[in-house]
Amino acid sequence: MDAICKAISEATGEKIEFISASPLAGGCINDANRLESSSGPFFVKLNQPSFLEAFHIESLALMEMGATRTIRVPKPVCNGIADGRAFLVLEFIEMGPPQAGSQAKAGQQLANMHRNTGKAFGWHCNNTIGATPQQNPLTQTWTDFYRSNRLGFQLELAARGGQAFHGADKLLERLEDYFENYNPVPSLLHGDLWSGNIGYGRHGQPAIFDPATYYGDRETDLAFTEMFGGFGPEFYNAYDETWPRDSGFKIRKKLYNLYHYLNHHNLFGGGYSSTAQVIIYDLLKH
Ligand code: ADP
Repeated sequence: MDAICKAISEATGEKIEFISASPLAGGCINDANRLESSSGPFFVKLNQPSFLEAFHIESLALMEMGATRTIRVPKPVCNGIADGRAFLVLEFIEMGPPQAGSQAKAGQQLANMHRNTGKAFGWHCNNTIGATPQQNPLTQTWTDFYRSNRLGFQLELAARGGQAFHGADKLLERLEDYFENYNPVPSLLHGDLWSGNIGYGRHGQPAIFDPATYYGDRETDLAFTEMFGGFGPEFYNAYDETWPRDSGFKIRKKLYNLYHYLNHHNLFGGGYSSTAQVIIYDLLKH
């Protein structure tokens, strides 16, 4: 941690003395810590050296979201290797329970973040969704992007692991059918927005973190908020008041969460493959 404090000092231009470090619960992939320093707390993620690139990419995503000045994200401080481990240092956000109006603020601010659009779907670098690679080549047509780089990519991974999904080819072929009268714009996305990746700071101010950012259909972020729950009607009402969702979301959200079910199957196995199969059959009925 001394070496990390040195890196923080270099990044901030302020001499930081190490006081203590304690592990935090809640992370899925990395060791998360609260580092106490002479300049207050910092949030520090640690992992094997091969994670340095992922940490760097996470910083880029946080900076891009932060630059929109819409919803709060932790400010990246520095990243590197210290004592044989990759580290990522972020601003520490003191999290507490949501307060009255917190979820509404999150919905409104997320919609405002989504208003930041790119010139194409994708991103300037690849990243990961959970521990799975996520490819983001810049692509002009959303359905082409989603077919190849999201569903197709996960289906391929599943096939390599010996799992085939009936009807998946047909679904990919007729993807455009789910987009009649709907032309998504490339919105800046969080990309991994489940309830574990949103917190509430002092005064109930929402903050989102641990992103898998790219530019894509904003409905993908909203679909994923529903997969594990934790977002209430105030969140969705405030989102819709700021930028209403299209009525076709009801069907497309299945298409969008299919990506995450396939990813969960590829990461964890278990019952996720049967859920993914049911969603494919269900989608083919529409
Ligand atoms: P992982 O990459 O391992 O999934 P997360 O980024 O989700 O780790 O962080 C783990 C936990 O630490 C989160 O669930 C959250 O409660 C907390 N956390 C994340 N970022 C911050 C931050 N900047 N300040 C304070 N706590 C944070």
